Amino acid sequence: MKQKLTLFNTLTRKQEVFTPLRSGEVTAYTCGPTVYLDPHIGNWRAFIFYDTLRRVLVDSGLKPTFVLNITDVGHLVSDEDEGEDKLAVSAAKQRKTAWDVAEHYSMRFVDGMDQLNITRPEYMPKATDHITEQIELIEQLEAKGYTYRIDDGIYFDTSMLDDYGKLVGLDNVDLLEGARVEVNEQKRYKTDFALWKFSPVDTKRDMEWDSPWGKGFPGWHIECSAMAMKYLGTTMDIHAGGIDHIPIHHTNEIAQSEAATGEKFANFWLHSEFMQVNGAKMAKSAGNGYTLDDIAEKGFEPLAFRLLILQSHYRTQSNFTWEALEAAENRLRDLYIFADLAWQLPKQADSVQPSPIDQIRQVLYQDLNTPKALAILSDYMSKVGEDPLRLAERATHYELLEFLDTVLGLNLSARSDISDAQKNLIREREKARKNKDFAKADEIRDRLLEEGVELRDVGTEATIWSYK
Ligand code: AMP
Ligand code: ZN
Repeated sequence: MKQKLTLFNTLTRKQEVFTPLRSGEVTAYTCGPTVYLDPHIGNWRAFIFYDTLRRVLVDSGLKPTFVLNITDVGHLVSDEDEGEDKLAVSAAKQRKTAWDVAEHYSMRFVDGMDQLNITRPEYMPKATDHITEQIELIEQLEAKGYTYRIDDGIYFDTSMLDDYGKLVGLDNVDLLEGARVEVNEQKRYKTDFALWKFSPVDTKRDMEWDSPWGKGFPGWHIECSAMAMKYLGTTMDIHAGGIDHIPIHHTNEIAQSEAATGEKFANFWLHSEFMQVNGAKMAKSAGNGYTLDDIAEKGFEPLAFRLLILQSHYRTQSNFTWEALEAAENRLRDLYIFADLAWQLPKQADSVQPSPIDQIRQVLYQDLNTPKALAILSDYMSKVGEDPLRLAERATHYELLEFLDTVLGLNLSARSDISDAQKNLIREREKARKNKDFAKADEIRDRLLEEGVELRDVGTEATIWSYK
């Protein structure tokens, strides 16, 4: 690794130096989307965070094995882990099968990932493709005596574990109970949760499977444990997700995985904070659960949204407004102008500004501080912007763009050069300016603008171009 990377570990409530289990490699799992609707922009924040984590780990020299699952069954409607299956409810509303709904929104999700330049993880397993693994895991728990049967399913007995609440802190067990609304009176203990739910006797579900306990479907938590351990082994380096998952979903993933294997499930637990909209909670009923389509409809680039997310640290609550997105788009535009310099800078310049790569890397390696990284970059850009052709050199500039693409994913290094004809026009305009033929100079400037190339006169009589 290039330098020490520290990450805030929810499990220890401390910033810790990250050391992978296997030298040179890193394994990570994040809870993926529940594919019953398009993700809203808050959900995307969680996935952009996971991608940023990956990018920084890759920059540090580690080979990643990342998993992001697709939850296509078992995620129940209420946050308290009760009620109907989200997929089944959405399917009934849309008069489609749960299978069709899952297929449709999984494809939409992958398309959204591409728009936001989120790297495809090595594995994107679906819960419905791993029913056997989930049944096997429940059988292991049953063999060890951790399960019991009630009318609607097979449950995990949380009272058997001394450290059940360790992710929220053992002194905070109230928080665990507070997160549950008591609906099921047959449960032995409030925090017990379903491993396998039985299909209702009078209905045929679209998604149901035979199991040693009867026809039904898996609980949401067991999916993640089964898929995480299948692809990453019993212990993984990092498990990530949104903070809402700490008291229930992740607490239960740890409980059942560690009860089954006797091993630590994940060394690091990383959680991203929520995003609000105009200072209020995002909710479909409030009409503020914006999607990537809403962003595109208003004419914004998806990467402007990515940049907006990177402007906040992942562990602080952020607030989305359309004005903030507009400001992020302007900032992205400035970044593109800066990127286009790659074709124009001299091989050697007079008084080169020191490259900001090391400084940026340093703050990113301190718990992924993207806002500080962007501030350092802005500072460098404004210094170089005073007279770019004298203050920066081509090779170091290109190296900077490639580094920024690795860690921030804003596509800065793949922009193209202008044509020879356009370059000739710029030369002609320079001649015209020298001869004080400003009418001609302006005419050429307008013509290039029509072709999408904007000219800017900077520093000592130099002109730089950028794509509009
Ligand atoms: P879901 O599809 O509901 O399972 O959620 C996908 C991810 O989005 C999870 O990691 C959630 O924690 C996260 N998430 C949900 N709502 C928000 C929000 N408003 N802001 C940030 N992350 C969120
Ligand atoms: Zn999960």
